[in-house]
Amino acid sequence: MNKGGGMKKMKYVLVTGGVVSGLGKGVTASSIGVLLKACGLRVTSIKIDPYLNTDAGTMSPFEHGEVYVLDDGGEVDLDLGNYERFLDIKLTRDNNITTGKIYQAVIDKERRGDYLGKTVQVVPHITDAIQEWIERVAMIPVDGQPGPADVCVIELGGTIGDIESMPFTEALGQFSYRVGAGNFCLIHVSLVPVLSAVGEQKSKPTQHSVRGLRSLGLTPNILACRSTLALEENVKQKLSQFCHVPAENIITLYDVPNIWHLPSLLRDQKAHGAILGALNLLGFVNVAREPNLKEWTSRAESCDMLLEPVRIAIVGKYTGLSDSYLSLLKALLHASVSLRKKLVVDWVPASDIEDETAKENPDAYKAAWKLLQGADGVLVPGGFGDRGVEGKILAAKYARENRIPFLGICLGMQIAVIEFARSILGLQDANSTEFDPDTKNPCVIFMPEGSKTHFGGTMRLGSRRTYFQVMDCKSAKLYGNRGFVDERHRHRYEVNPDMVSTLEDAGLSFTGKDETGQRMEIVELPNHPYYIGTQFHPEFKSRPGKPSALFLGLIAAACGQLDSLLHAHKIPNGMAKKVSLYQNGNATKFAKIPADGIYSNCNGVHA
Ligand code: GLN
Repeated sequence: MNKGGGMKKMKYVLVTGGVVSGLGKGVTASSIGVLLKACGLRVTSIKIDPYLNTDAGTMSPFEHGEVYVLDDGGEVDLDLGNYERFLDIKLTRDNNITTGKIYQAVIDKERRGDYLGKTVQVVPHITDAIQEWIERVAMIPVDGQPGPADVCVIELGGTIGDIESMPFTEALGQFSYRVGAGNFCLIHVSLVPVLSAVGEQKSKPTQHSVRGLRSLGLTPNILACRSTLALEENVKQKLSQFCHVPAENIITLYDVPNIWHLPSLLRDQKAHGAILGALNLLGFVNVAREPNLKEWTSRAESCDMLLEPVRIAIVGKYTGLSDSYLSLLKALLHASVSLRKKLVVDWVPASDIEDETAKENPDAYKAAWKLLQGADGVLVPGGFGDRGVEGKILAAKYARENRIPFLGICLGMQIAVIEFARSILGLQDANSTEFDPDTKNPCVIFMPEGSKTHFGGTMRLGSRRTYFQVMDCKSAKLYGNRGFVDERHRHRYEVNPDMVSTLEDAGLSFTGKDETGQRMEIVELPNHPYYIGTQFHPEFKSRPGKPSALFLGLIAAACGQLDSLLHAHKIPNGMAKKVSLYQNGNATKFAKIPADGIYSNCNGVHA
């Protein structure tokens, strides 16, 4: 790339949506990124969310899907998770633009007097701020290599014509003109419905939405049409004629068995040729050969062929909307596929397994327990608020007593500690002060650095380091016997350090702690087949080809394959002895560990 010399020019691909929401625009945009990457380009991405929240941190997962957490602590839209997973990149909080962020920046500037007495307006001040933001963020390297990417994929959330997105469409119209033809490619994702009575593919909704797009100053280069089957030739011709898009630039996103097929679906219809053509990159990139999507295609195909099920019960609060736990589901899927198992998730509403439900709704109670008891593994995810907490505690107890593989994440770890304190230490009222501020046995407490009055962005957020305290434990082995691991966090409460020694004396092992040794990060029951809780959220760093270590452990344990998996990560002789010197110490004693924290064989497992 950049053979012409001089300053490299960033190329932009804008993805908009029309007709209806929920077309899978985010996954389409991510797949476009994958395809461009397969052509040898470096790709970054920006997601625009036209809502007023400054970030997704205060939004209910039940309404909006999960809050995705980035390394830098940004609490962002779940689409950024799709980008990170598909492109194997690490984004920053600024890669998620919201109306709230833009207005806040402009208002701050106004208060500083930066507008020199001018009237501050949507055009040009908000629209300029949007364009400056995009240009600045597009330059941030996200793939671990130095220097900016070649292409920035921008996804505009919502549907064209929404009142909320007007300042963004205006700004992007100006932007496309400013960066100029050859540097900007607009892909409009739309719907071509089929009316069952006549069985005809209807192009009118797409025509209308393209007309809307044009009236806002945006001209599509490519149409990507969602439809159950491939578009018929006459429908393509009609769309081409009415939307002024060449027929070869009209792509059908027909239904596929799983989303990993999308990059090759786009490639098979030569979407890369159309995009690179619009971006004036055909001469620069080696596209004479087909883009290399071997890994994607074989993963997508092998995923379709998996037969042997592994049943995981997710005992949570938001079981009605699977997007609430999207990263978790993906992490389970990555691990299952890599162990060649078909993932079956049983959603167990936590409150349904509580005693109360047995009286109020015995059918729901029975159904929930049946699901839990039929599972090969139990996962208790993160959460806030006290609804369903007692049910989660019961699920942890069930998994502990019946030796069922268990993974507790964040709140899931905290309830595992509470359950242990109640059942093994006999502290009946043991609780988190989040749920019972007056408990006499607070085994989970509010962190000193938190805020009880401001909820946005006030948690312990983002990537923090966990140091292994014991090398002869499942988590350390699964992470490849490293000295430490960096994972993402999002919490206000923590295990009470004053109760740690009592809990440890009773058999609970805190195998990972932070750099002070005061904050518990990983808890394990050494005598259980697989019982692990983490204060962090390992699901956010799982990738299709690099499943998260502890999810891999859960699935392997649920299939009876944990021993062989751990065998693959055995600590070499001698190393185990060296590490055991540090066993009971805190993390500061790990000072002699090599800078990258990797002892030796990290074969296959990535943090
Ligand atoms: N509510 C708990 C806390 O704030 C757990 C948070 C979570 O699970 N993400 O610590």
